[in-house]
Parts: sequence; C-alpha cells; structure tokens
Amino acid sequence: GNDSEVNEVAKESLRSPICCIMGHVDTGKTKLLDCIRGTNVQEGEAGGITQQIGATYFPAENIRERTKELRPDAKLKVPGLLVIDTPGHESFSNLRSRGSNLCDIAILVVDIMHGLEPQTIESLNLLRKRNTEFIVALNKVDRLYGWKTCKNAPIEKALALQSKDVVIEFNMRLTQVITQFKEQGLNTEIYYKNKEMGDTFSIVPTSAISGEGIPDLLLYLVMWSQKTMVEKLTFVDKVQCTVLEVKVIPGHGTTIDVVLVNGVLHEGDQIVACGSQGPIITTVRSLLTRHPMKELRVKGTYQHHREVKAAQCIKITAQGLEHAVAGTSLHVIGPDVDVGTPMCFLKEIGKSRVFVDLGR
Ligand code: GDP
Repeated sequence: GNDSEVNEVAKESLRSPICCIMGHVDTGKTKLLDCIRGTNVQEGEAGGITQQIGATYFPAENIRERTKELRPDAKLKVPGLLVIDTPGHESFSNLRSRGSNLCDIAILVVDIMHGLEPQTIESLNLLRKRNTEFIVALNKVDRLYGWKTCKNAPIEKALALQSKDVVIEFNMRLTQVITQFKEQGLNTEIYYKNKEMGDTFSIVPTSAISGEGIPDLLLYLVMWSQKTMVEKLTFVDKVQCTVLEVKVIPGHGTTIDVVLVNGVLHEGDQIVACGSQGPIITTVRSLLTRHPMKELRVKGTYQHHREVKAAQCIKITAQGLEHAVAGTSLHVIGPDVDVGTPMCFLKEIGKSRVFVDLGR
C-alpha cells in the first residue's frame, strides 16, 4: 500500500482543490497537462506526483519545489492539487449540466495565436453558469516570432529575456485577447497586474512545450484556491463523491472510477451507488489508484489503499456495480445505521433522507 502519503495528508485541515482544464480543441489542454505532469518526473525532483484514475495528484511539496524560483516564500496550506485528466470526458458534460460541484477551479486554455474560439466561449459560458472560478492560460507563447526558449521559467523572467519585437507582439496579442473577453462581458488582466482578483479574471501566459509560465500557473491555482475558497476546501467527515465512469476491468469485474471531493473512503465501507435499476447497496472491496508515474510500465497493476482522503480520484471495486450510473453521487452508510438487511438500509436511507439519485 501507499498509506504514508495518505496519513501525511490527514494532518491537514484543508483538502486539495480540484482543477479541470477546458478550452477549444488544439489549444494545448493535453500538452499543458503533460507539461505540468512531466517535468519533475523526468528530472527526478521533489516528485511524489501520482497518476490517479482519471486525474493527476500534485503534492504541495512538488508544487513548492517547482515554484521556488518564482516565490520562495509561498505558503501552501493545501495538501496538494488534483487535476482532472479528462476535460472532454462524457460524464463531465453530464456532470456540468447537472450542476455538480466537482471542480473548484478551472484552467481555460486560449491559444495566443488564435485568441477566443467557439469552444472557448462555450467553456466560458459553462463556467459562468456554474459560478466556477477560473484562470486563463494564454498558451503557445513560444510560437511568437523570435521567442527565446527559457525552459520552465516564470513568465516575467522569460519575457524580460525577449527581444523588443517579441514583447511588442506579445502585448498586441494579449491586448486582443483582453478585448475579446471584454466583448463577452468579462474583465481580464495579466495576473501580475491584476489588483482586483475576483472581479477581474487573471491571464497566465504559458508554453506547454518549453514550460514558460508553468510555475506561475501552478502557484496561482494553489494560492488563489486557498485564499478564496477556505470554506469549500475545509475538510469534512461526510463523504462527497461522484461517479466518473463505470468500467469492466479483467480480474476486478465491474468497477467505478470516482472523484472523492471531500471526506474519507475506507476499504469495507458500506456504500450506496445510484443504479439504473435502483439503488445499489454494496461494500467497498478495494480502493485502487494507478502506480506512480515512474512505474507505469508495470502494466495492469494498481496500488491498494486502506483509506483515501479527499480530494482524490480512485477506482472502487465492489460487488453488484453492473448498473451503476456515471455522473451520479455515491454515499457512505454511517456506522449508526442497523445493517440487518438490504431493506433496512433502504428504510434507513429514506428516514435519514439521503439523496439517492436515480438515472441521468
Ligand atoms: P488539445 O486539443 O487542447 O488537448 O491540444 P493538444 O494538447 O493536443 O495540442 C494541440 C497541438 O498544439 C499539438 O500539436 C501540440 O503539440 C501543440 N501545442 C500545445 N501546446 C503548445 C505550446 O505551448 N506551444 C506550441 N508551439 N505548440 C503547442
């Protein structure tokens, strides 16, 4: 198992913020994720990055290591950051339309060479409808004509090293994007000049190829979340959990991949999942995550956890999950409930008015 990591997280009173990446096709969402995930694994720095099921978990130590040039004194109060891997995932549109509170913060990716595109505006409208905080990653700055690569540098440092012409083109394109956002009724500003956080949304210029601006993006995500979302990120005992995907895995039967938004899940917990044929009452057989990045070659194996604390993405194996429905919530039956018969569960659930969500 990998319980030391879990125990360390358990000392904190804030949970990890959950972040998702949105934007138009080809703006670099996948590449950006690769970039923030890849650097440290390859360079063997602070490490600790683990690839969850459908998400990547960045421990605070890792973020601190990567942002120390930018702000050596940054105080990180959250245990880490959970970035959801599958922005275009079907159950996400399902979740979004259901008004789920899955993501605490989003990265809206815009290609600096293209500005706002149809799906940028679509994503923007979804975020506004949901009242989800977001920051804009103005990606592909390395494509500005004559850009000098400054691998993984904070953006202000990288800009200071560019020629006058590059800076002029950068400013022109930035201004264009700010104007386009304004046309959508949104105030934006480059993040280090943004004095009205909250009313004005921040833009972080990035390159997913050479890593400029990535420290800024990571630090901003964490600092902003912990500053403005303390209430939402306060750890609670009550489990808040959403089913992302229902999958048959050889050797494990039907499993569910879930996002544990808050609380703790244990092996052996009695759970109620929403099924297309009615509530599914079952017992957690195992809680699985993928092996850490370095061990990805170990094919088809998972890491087992006795317990997992939010926020994390995990695969749950249990009996009877065949009809579980993606996009619905999952509940844990507390120890105070008499566990006599399935009917008793149903009655108790009814009594305690646990919301059991049926179908889509
Ligand atoms: P997605 O559709 O938003 O996930 O976009 P991808 O991550 O697949 O990227 C689309 C294309 O843009 C790929 O060819 C990437 O290599 C390229 N790309 C992504 N980010 C950058 C960047 O920062 N700079 C440059 N030059 N190319 C990029």
